Amino acid sequence: MLKGTKLYSILNLKCPRCHEGDLFLTKNPYSFSDMDKMPDKCPVCEQKYWLEPGFYYGAMYISYALTIALSVSVFVAMIVLWHFDIMWYLGLNATAIILLFPPIFRVSRSIWISIFVKTDKDRIQKKA
Ligand SMILES: [Zn+2]
Repeated sequence: MLKGTKLYSILNLKCPRCHEGDLFLTKNPYSFSDMDKMPDKCPVCEQKYWLEPGFYYGAMYISYALTIALSVSVFVAMIVLWHFDIMWYLGLNATAIILLFPPIFRVSRSIWISIFVKTDKDRIQKKA
């Protein structure tokens, strides 16, 4: 995927400004004790990751939207691939939400900071 696009930094969990520094301290979203640990600033360009106190509360709205999209996807997949049964849907949907919570949590934070931090395209083109 092309470096320099917002989608690149969001999906690779990279700094929204330089697209090089990691947003999270660990690569594995399923290491639950470190799942939400982020450095204070980008190790490459020194962009602050905590723009203000409580900054990532807003990421909950993104997380909510992604979770709704996941639930609708499970619903449509059940209808298309199988048949709809409310008890199976509730079980499958709860399982999908629990299993995908860590990546959704991280991508939500990545989307949230990408909304507020501008990409430094000059810096990215110089490195390429
Ligand atoms: Zn950076």
